[in-house]
Parts: sequence; C-alpha cells; structure tokens
Amino acid sequence: MIKTVGILGAGQLARMLAQAGQPMGLEFVFLDPASDACAAEYGEHICAAWDDESALKKLTQRADLVTFEFENVPESSASLIESMCPLYPPTRALYKSQDRLREKNMLQALGIPVAPFHPVACRPDLIAAVEKIGLPCVLKTRRLGYDGKGQAVLRFQEDMERAWQVLGDFELICEQFVPFAAECSIIAARGMDGRIVYWPLTRNKHRDGILAISVAPAFGQQLQRRAEALIQDLLEHLDYTGVMVLELFLKDDELLANEFAPRVHNSGHWSIDADCTSQFENHLRAICGLPLGDTQHTQHALMFNLLGEMPRCANQQSADHGIQATVHWHDYHKTARAGRKIGHVTVTAQSEAGLGARAAQLASELGVAAELNLEAVMQGMRFPGL
Ligand code: AMP
Repeated sequence: MIKTVGILGAGQLARMLAQAGQPMGLEFVFLDPASDACAAEYGEHICAAWDDESALKKLTQRADLVTFEFENVPESSASLIESMCPLYPPTRALYKSQDRLREKNMLQALGIPVAPFHPVACRPDLIAAVEKIGLPCVLKTRRLGYDGKGQAVLRFQEDMERAWQVLGDFELICEQFVPFAAECSIIAARGMDGRIVYWPLTRNKHRDGILAISVAPAFGQQLQRRAEALIQDLLEHLDYTGVMVLELFLKDDELLANEFAPRVHNSGHWSIDADCTSQFENHLRAICGLPLGDTQHTQHALMFNLLGEMPRCANQQSADHGIQATVHWHDYHKTARAGRKIGHVTVTAQSEAGLGARAAQLASELGVAAELNLEAVMQGMRFPGL
C-alpha cells in the first residue's frame, strides 16, 4: 500500500495534491529548489536543484512512488528516479510533452487534428515554413515555453526578422495561427486498470498568454464526446496512469489540439469545489492504484485565476442579492509578486444563470469585469448544437 508520495515541485499544484491526499491518509515529500515553496507546509521539503543526484535519491528513499507537478523535469532526473522507484505519469508521456515538435508529430500520427506546423532550425526554414503555412502564424520554442512565453505571432512579413532576433537561438516550431471561436481543455484520469474518467470540457479564457478564467460545463454532449475520444486515444497510446489535460481550440465546430500536459492543470482547479472528485484526488487515486472517483458533477463552476496579490475582497462575505451561488477562495500562501499565480477563486452554482450572476458580481469586486468581458464569455458559453 502506498503511504508516501514524492512530488517533484512544491508549488501550488503540489500543494493542492497534498491537500487532497492528506484526508486519504497519504504523506508527502517534495523536491524543489525554492526555499519558500508553498507546498512545503504539507510535508518534508528537500530543497535542492532538479538534477541534484543525492537529493533525487533521498526523494526516492522517502517515497513509495514519485510524481511531478511540471513537465520540464530534466530527462536525466526522471530516468534516475525511474531506476529507483515508480514514477507516474510515465516518462514516455513526459518526454513527448517537453518538445512541441515530438508532441505535434505524435498527435498527428494518432489522427488527432492539429493546425499545420513545421520545424524551424534556421532562417531559411522559417522563410519556407511561413511560405507553406501562410500568415498569420505562431513561432514557438520547441522546449521550455509556458504561459505564452517563448512565442511570437507573425502577422506581416516584417515580423519574421523581429521574431528571429528574439527566438532564433532556439529550436523552433512554426504553426498556423488558429482563429478560434473558443479555447477549451479536456481533463481525464486513467487508472492502473485502464479505466478512464473525464471531467466536463472546460472553456478557458487567457489574458497575456496566462489562463484568466475557466468555466465548466461550457459545451454540449457532442463536443464533450469528441474531446473525450481525442484524449482517450492519447491516454491509451501512452499507456498512461494519472491525470492529463489536452488543450484544444474550437474552430468551425472542429476541435484542434494545441498541446497536452502530463499533470494536473490550472483549468481543472474548479473541480475542487464542484461536488465531484477533484483532479488532484483522482491523480493520487490513479498513481496509487486506487479506484477512480466520480467526475459527474452537479454544479456549474467558474474559476478566476488570481495574479500578483490576493485581492482585498478575498474571504469577505459580500451580499448575495438572492443569488444561489457559493464563492470558494484558495490562497496558495505565496509571496506576492506581479503576474505570479498566487491563488484562485471558484464560484459554484446549481444553475447557469446563478453562476453567471454571481461571477459577474465577483468580476466587478475583483476589478476585472471590463478587462475580461465576462458577459461575452458567459453569453457565448453555449455553442448551439455542440
Ligand atoms: P501555448 O503555450 O501553446 O499553450 O500557447 C499559449 C496561448 O497562446 C494559447 O492558449 C492560445 O491562446 C495562444 N496560441 C498558441 N498557439 C496558437 C495558435 N496556433 N493559434 C492561435 N493562438 C495560439
């Protein structure tokens, strides 16, 4: 029986894994180079570099199995861990997710629709890629990009040189720019017995490349089934164990895959409060070989990411004006810093109308109503027939 779970990383995802795992009787040990890592209050914190061999060995000695909260785990560290103790999700998934080109090639080979793309290793490659794909397109680093970092949108020929100056030292991929109607993500958990559970397809809105809000459920059964079929192919191909997210673009009634992450994901945080098994609990259940919990939730949910510092209104009871909705604040206990993910807040309600009304109220309390144009997101939430 699994007693202690080791986690590479002790940020907010590790913290929420530990919060879900403690009531299950699990203990945690984290490896993270940050001395003030926010999950540390939930277990032993080994403060060391990601590739510190003695620290990695210590982690495997303390833990019955190891998982990770971010996909940029060095390959050498992952294989060292794997040689000493079980590591989930499997490294074949981890390595694919670390390189956008390998990832896109795999998605395409599996028949999962993606926007046209080309690898770019030199300036002539870029010129050829733009010629083939056309403008606008997006130039991205193959590795280590996140939250919109390491990428540039090319709209005009002259953007090519500017983007090359910034990104030309890296291995790159050039993708067609997708004029999407909506961004969404499907999160699923696969257990050791191969059983898969899915959360509702979630609609996401980004601001400056960073997730701003997630709404679930946001689409009908047709899109839900399609998204489930796509991630099912991926999970089975990788003989996967744990939680995975597949980020998608909705364009002309079609779903195109952007990328997958072999871990719990920001767009699934609402699952903590929506009367279903959360992504964090099910990830732990999967990797510990336990039966997966139910993901059929009864609540409508909308999550706002909180960046920089916790807002003044956090945890304050505001007048509900008769709206049947609940607000759940999550403070990661991280030091405030501009642009840093320091918490999130989820609104849950029995009805979509109740959710919309309370979320709009909260958006204005947070001072983001105009910026996020929440009304448009809520109004356009349903795509007729999809
Ligand atoms: P990524 O780092 O690939 O997740 O990209 C971050 C964000 O950039 C996405 O959530 C989209 O909003 C946007 N984006 C990335 N790739 C494309 C694309 N090919 N077309 C349009 N928008 C994109």
